[in-house]
Amino acid sequence: MKYTLDKIADLLNLEDFSEVYSEADRIRKENVGDIVHIRAILEFSNYCRRKCKYCGLNCTNKNIKRYRMSSEEIISAAYEAAENGYKTIVLQSGEDAYYTPKILGEIVKNIKKSGIDITLSTGEMDYDSYAYLKECGADRYLLKHETAEESLYDYLHPCGTLEERIQCLKNIKKLGYETGGGFMIGLPNQTSETLAKDIMLLREIGCDMAGIGTFISHPSTALKDCPQGSTEITKRAVALTRIVMPEINLPATTSLGVIDIKEKNDVFSCGANVIMQKVTPSKYKFLYEIYPSKLSETDVKLQRINLENQIKSLNRIPL
Ligand code: SAH
Repeated sequence: MKYTLDKIADLLNLEDFSEVYSEADRIRKENVGDIVHIRAILEFSNYCRRKCKYCGLNCTNKNIKRYRMSSEEIISAAYEAAENGYKTIVLQSGEDAYYTPKILGEIVKNIKKSGIDITLSTGEMDYDSYAYLKECGADRYLLKHETAEESLYDYLHPCGTLEERIQCLKNIKKLGYETGGGFMIGLPNQTSETLAKDIMLLREIGCDMAGIGTFISHPSTALKDCPQGSTEITKRAVALTRIVMPEINLPATTSLGVIDIKEKNDVFSCGANVIMQKVTPSKYKFLYEIYPSKLSETDVKLQRINLENQIKSLNRIPL
């Protein structure tokens, strides 16, 4: 079947989606197998220079306490993750100029010695900075395009354009990073056509992974009164992305887990093959509030074991 924009938009609106879910699950199994990749995520700074209207970390939010982890703290948290079986660590932050490419590069080089793979998720940078961090040993880069609808993108992002965002993703791809894109479900004025465009943009960029997350409003942002996105539509978008891009890595995004833990299992049966687990030390974790969520204290060892067991109970293979 040829998946055009119209076709994808129609499928998203189907009354009964169960056949599409089965097809996505079959394609997942055939192309990426039963392994679920567990990625550690370390949120090392909540400072941000941007004003993204949906995000609790945006610099106009004066209601949060800001923190930065030192290089030593970041490196030691990454080693703890590696020692507890994680094969990848995602280093994420707001766009915080304090961490220059030089500083980040040293952190990357140090962590690489542990043997763990590194995904960076630190926002937009120029070509040379991405190139330098790649040289230092970063393996992957995660930068969601957020929405492929230009007018919506402009409204949500007073600090940047969709064109700049896409150029960053193309640079990341060109430099040989495993490239992660993604978008949110349930943004104001979003339509099925918008979501179809989002999925097609992932394909156009050639994304190797995609985080598709449900929008959850944050009380200290301009979108505080907007309703939460639909978890059902989120799962449908995950399934259709799997069908259109059979070999892509698709996380069961944390925003789904936040809403209903049981739904996470659902996402695994409709195309997802990745899960992220926070390893951010508790004293910082609660301050990294992109959207409100119920979090428990971090216990790297125990939470890794629990997650492995949950994955095994779904007859999937944790890695
Ligand atoms: N500063 C980095 C990464 C931090 S934000 C960057 O720009 O890439 C990580 C992701 O959280 C964003 O890409 C966005 O998709 C998601 N996010 C932000 N606010 C959200 C909200 N209110 N609900 C759901 N997801 C949100």
